[in-house]
Amino acid sequence: MSEAHQVPAIGKTARKRTAPFRFQKEIAAEIVRYGRMVVARGYIHNSLGNIAIRVPHPAYPDGVAYTKHSGVSLEEMTIDNVVVTDIPTDKLIYGTIPTSVGHKLNREIFRLRPDVHSVIHVHHDETISFLASKAFTEIKAVSLEYPYVMAKPPYIVPSHLDVEQDVDPLKEFVQQTNSLVMIRHGITTMGRNVSEAYHRLNTLTSEIQRNVQIETLCALKGTQGEYLSQKDVEWMYRYAEEVIYPTKQ
Ligand SMILES: [Zn+2]
Repeated sequence: MSEAHQVPAIGKTARKRTAPFRFQKEIAAEIVRYGRMVVARGYIHNSLGNIAIRVPHPAYPDGVAYTKHSGVSLEEMTIDNVVVTDIPTDKLIYGTIPTSVGHKLNREIFRLRPDVHSVIHVHHDETISFLASKAFTEIKAVSLEYPYVMAKPPYIVPSHLDVEQDVDPLKEFVQQTNSLVMIRHGITTMGRNVSEAYHRLNTLTSEIQRNVQIETLCALKGTQGEYLSQKDVEWMYRYAEEVIYPTKQ
């Protein structure tokens, strides 16, 4: 496929719609680079798990989404496996192989959250195990870094919802969180850029691993875990921005 082609003109927006689309290799390279980091952390086992980056474009009011197509893993991929889609629809703007069903969720997050420009989705072992144990229904904050980096509480999606297949319920809770935790499935983190989504992914998975370790040790020793209070966590969410990005103040 050529790297630039004309987007068809439609009605009144004809002038804008003719803005050519140019595939940006450097964005595709970011997906591959962050994909390798996610792999190195042991979060990827197969072709499931993905990264999406939104890029503005004059012909597309919501921008366009760069992501890995279906059938290849983040571990195996190269920039040749990056495709670009529209955001309100799954129409391919660049590439020929469709995305997996999970991209529907990414697109809906982008549509509902103009502040989010990147999402990362993985099937994280400890998260699936922790919630499947049925002993725990929430992720408790224990570290000081967790509320500051996440900036909003994770949203544990009720098990009867499959928000990849049916994205409609997302509008009820997507504004109140920067991370979705899906029982039997995995995690999606959101960020203003891919770095922020990646930091939130690692921070969330670390906190879940700490929850597992605390609860295991407490069960062995007959003690109670010492977690942060809800009041403290809420205070930290409020001041997250200036703690994590002090130079912006
Ligand atoms: Zn998934």
